[in-house]
Amino acid sequence: MTRDISYLLQELTLEEKAGLCSGLNFWHTKPVERLGIPSIMVTDGPHGLRKQREGSDNLGIFDSVPATCFPSAAGLATSWNRELVKQVGVALGEECQAEDVAILLGPGANIKRSPLCGRNFEYFSEDPFLSSELAANHIEGVQSQGVGTSLKHFAANNQEHRRMSTNVLVDERTLREIYLASFEGAVKKSQPWTVMCSYNQVNGDFAAENKYLLTDILKEEWGHTGFVVSDWGAVNERADGLAAGLELEMPSSNGEGDRKIIDAVENGSLPMEALDRAVERLLKIIFMAVDHKKENAAYDQESHHQLARKVAAESMVLLKNDEQILPLKMEGKIALIGEFAKKSRYQGGGSSHVNPTKLDSVYEEMEKLAGNKASLNYSQGYQLDSDDINHALIGEAKVAAQNADVAILFVGLPDRYESEGYDRTHLNIPANHQALIEAVASVQENVIVVLSNGSPVEMPWISQVKAVLEGYLGGQAFGGAVADLLFGEVNPSGKLAETFPEQLGHNPSFLNFPGEGDQVEYKEGIFVGYRYYDTKKIQPLFPFGYGLSYTTFDYTDIMVDKKDFADTETVNVHITVKNTGSRAGKEIVQVYVKDLESTAFRPEKELKGFEKVELQPGEEKTVVVKLDKRSFAYYDVARKDWHVESGEFEILAGKSSEEIVLSEKVVVHCTSPKFTKVVTRNTIVGDIIDDPVHGPVIQAALQEMNKNSGLMEAMQEGQSEMMIAMMKYMPLRALVNFNEHFTEEMLQEILQKLNKTELVNN
Ligand code: BGC
Repeated sequence: MTRDISYLLQELTLEEKAGLCSGLNFWHTKPVERLGIPSIMVTDGPHGLRKQREGSDNLGIFDSVPATCFPSAAGLATSWNRELVKQVGVALGEECQAEDVAILLGPGANIKRSPLCGRNFEYFSEDPFLSSELAANHIEGVQSQGVGTSLKHFAANNQEHRRMSTNVLVDERTLREIYLASFEGAVKKSQPWTVMCSYNQVNGDFAAENKYLLTDILKEEWGHTGFVVSDWGAVNERADGLAAGLELEMPSSNGEGDRKIIDAVENGSLPMEALDRAVERLLKIIFMAVDHKKENAAYDQESHHQLARKVAAESMVLLKNDEQILPLKMEGKIALIGEFAKKSRYQGGGSSHVNPTKLDSVYEEMEKLAGNKASLNYSQGYQLDSDDINHALIGEAKVAAQNADVAILFVGLPDRYESEGYDRTHLNIPANHQALIEAVASVQENVIVVLSNGSPVEMPWISQVKAVLEGYLGGQAFGGAVADLLFGEVNPSGKLAETFPEQLGHNPSFLNFPGEGDQVEYKEGIFVGYRYYDTKKIQPLFPFGYGLSYTTFDYTDIMVDKKDFADTETVNVHITVKNTGSRAGKEIVQVYVKDLESTAFRPEKELKGFEKVELQPGEEKTVVVKLDKRSFAYYDVARKDWHVESGEFEILAGKSSEEIVLSEKVVVHCTSPKFTKVVTRNTIVGDIIDDPVHGPVIQAALQEMNKNSGLMEAMQEGQSEMMIAMMKYMPLRALVNFNEHFTEEMLQEILQKLNKTELVNN
């Protein structure tokens, strides 16, 4: 089969070229047999393979071949462990090879704007840096096996409500700093073979035909070399999509999309070169997939299950541990209460739903570890398929709890509470789960809660329990991982990748989620997640970056290798951490940057680096985090670029976004060319006086013209504060009204001089 794409472009007919730009069916691209162009298979993703068997309904979620179900992204992210996420990617790649899948549809890098989004469990974080770092490692892992990925859903797909039609109105700076940044790092670092465009519209254009997103930013600015695939059914007008940079329509539109492309080429509205460019990108990836196909590939299900267990244990977050009730001693009587103890909720609903190779139950895994050292007693507590409080079950649970030394409650969100396709409307756990906690806590003082959920819940009951372990959706080995953590076989080391608000109304998107009709405006701007809680000083239930351990860590030293540098340079931050407890453990060192003085609005601080480090008791290590221009910059809309404002910044090292333990100040100098704004009749005097380029020019001109009026002198010498205040905010055009010596002709002369243009008039 030839790999000569220019030759193939000459040989392919218009119909064949258009045909390559849409699927053969639900999961395959079209072949062109006469030219030896094969068909490849793509399939979900992201945290396990959902390869549907031939002849299944495609939309049906459950009929897929067995595959390892790893923790979903919400859990993976709380590991903050790049290497581990990469290992998951490698395992996924191996399973794809074994199942003849060329491209895995994931990972998802959408930002968790609201905890209500039904698909948050598939996304990493509310923070773009953390999200893009983990997405990059996921991609690297999968692609190291010769299997492609599809970074999705590009872009601003942050809710399920009206996901196929809603128009996201988001300002440029927010789009760049928050929503696109989460994809940008992953694209630049790991070159996903494909990027999947989202269903929604972004600022008036469907993502599937958004040239600004797909071509200007993704391909040209970020240098993506693969192809863009539509989310399933996201195509609106096919020819417009192709022109905008959408190469592959999925699934097949039964020839409709192809026909529209052919018509557009024939009537001249779509240049043949645009179609050729799309086909070239498609063929490059199709050939890459075929050339990397490993014959007779297989994987070891048991070792992947063990990896899933290790990852799950590192993904769970210990939120509360009063009186060090955890880890549990393997002795006495332990009551395991709640149906989740036997039927784990370990994954979310929708297209990511995996048919697991094996499924742990918490009860069995705890029994295996406890052996005959402790006796376990199970009590159902609630019915999983209903929210109704079952008093008989609660009564039994109370008896079980009363007769035990400790009660572990397994509660959270049942399947129906969160899924692809719809959002939640509140953050409560079901009434019967809450009633169970309260009832058990009324008879037993040693209560531990283990949560299964894909996104934050409110915890009005938290003061009644001694410990809370956030299990997220831990994948098929959830049960084993919970047992490992509760009994202390593994020391918890996950930290939240999102803020848990005290109550839903505290979330910054609350007043604008999920929007009105087909429009949602991101009015909170860049203040998403901890950027908001931190800046607004709103105490969350648990802050971003928070998580406990069975040991303790001290941060003993912070050092920067330079303190005064240009924004083109990088700086290394060294932080020394010591394990001061008696158990081995892992700590996630977080580095935030705070701009001490800025003319632009900036969040209190932003995450710009992190490292996870493993330490034996008493051991000390120094982690190094490298910061670059982007760590100090904001997106300057006027410049259309990232910009560092010269001045002092603080580098903060923390155990969480709330618990900053060390800091160091640095001075960063801007090296970008001076940026001069166009001066118009409506530019205010204060802006010109302060401007380094225009200031002296305007001062000289005004002085000359106002010799008699004394106005400028007053301003310069600070004789009259009132005069200065008034003048500062006065547009240039108003000088004509307020100063008889200042004429319209003079104003035009000044504007011409400043802008070196013929006439400025707006
Ligand atoms: C989802 C994608 C998924 C695709 C294929 C869509 O509905 O949004 O994430 O990859 O279906 O199943």
